[in-house]
Amino acid sequence: MPRRRARPRSLLSTAAGLLVLAVPLEAFAECPGPVAVQVLGSGGPDTNDARASSGYLVWLDGEARLLVDAGGGVFLRFGEARARFESLDAVAITHLHADHVSDLPALLKSGFFSERKRPLPMIGPSGGGVFPGMKEFMRALFDPKRGAFRYLSGYLDGSGGMVRAEISEINMDVKAPKSAFGNDRFKLTAVGVKHGLVPALGYLVEVRGRRIAFAGDQNGDNPAFAAMIKDADILVMDHAVPEMADPASRRLHARPSEIGVLAALAGVKQLVLSHNMARSLGPLQENLALIRQHYDGPINVSEDLTCIG
Ligand SMILES: [Zn+2]
Repeated sequence: MPRRRARPRSLLSTAAGLLVLAVPLEAFAECPGPVAVQVLGSGGPDTNDARASSGYLVWLDGEARLLVDAGGGVFLRFGEARARFESLDAVAITHLHADHVSDLPALLKSGFFSERKRPLPMIGPSGGGVFPGMKEFMRALFDPKRGAFRYLSGYLDGSGGMVRAEISEINMDVKAPKSAFGNDRFKLTAVGVKHGLVPALGYLVEVRGRRIAFAGDQNGDNPAFAAMIKDADILVMDHAVPEMADPASRRLHARPSEIGVLAALAGVKQLVLSHNMARSLGPLQENLALIRQHYDGPINVSEDLTCIG
C-alpha cells in the first residue's frame, strides 16, 4: 500500500510561549521493504504546486540504489528520505529540463562528505536541438577550465577527493529499447520518448522479478515505451496537463485520457501520478475519471516522499 511519509513537525511550546522547531530523527526513516519506489519530488516546474520537482529513488533492502532525476527540491528530499549517496549504484536522467536536473550539482557536492569511493554511473540522453547530451551537460557544469562549477571538476576525473562520474548517453532511437545499466542488483533499460523537441528517455527497472517503469516527461504515444513496460508492477507517469491542454502542451505531456490508454495498453499493475502541477491538480477528480475510463487498476496521486512498496 502507498504510504505517506512522516514529515518534520513544528512544535509550539505553549508553556514558554516560544516557537520551537523540532526535527525528530524518527521522522526520517528509510522507505521499507525489499523493493520500494520513493517519490522525492512529485511536482513539475511550477512553484505554486508546493512540491519538489522530479526525482525518484528505488530502494532495495533499505538502501537507495537508483536515483531517477534530480529536479529542484530533490536535494532536500534526498536527505529527508535518509538516502545515502554512497549507496547509489546509478543516477538515471530522463531529460535535461531544469525541473529534472537542477539539483544534480548540489547532490554531487554532498557526496564529497560521504564515504563513497567508487565511481558513480550516470546515464542520460544524447543531445538534440538546443539540448546538449548528458556528456556535454556534465562538461558544462564541471569542465576544469570552462565549467560553471569548475571547482568541482573532480567529478569528471575522480581527483580532489571527488568520485568520478561514469557518464553514458542513450541515443534517441524511439523504436528500440537499449540496455542502460546493469549490475548484480538490477537492470535498467531505456527508450526514447516523445516530449516535444526535447531528447527524453523513459526507463524500466527490472529487479527481483519486479518491473518498475519511469515515464519521465512524455506525451504517451510512443508504442515502443508501452511495449517496453508491458505488465510493469508500477508505472510512474507525468500528470502535468488537463484534458483540454493547448496543442504545445499536448506535444510535451500525455493528457489524462492518454495516461489511461497507456496504462491499460501496457497492463500496468499500479499507476503512480507524479509531475503534478497546479494546472493538473485543479481538475484532479475530472482527470482521474478520464483515466478510469480506460484503466481500472489502482491509482496513486503521489506526494513528496510517498513510498510505494
Ligand atoms: Zn518536467
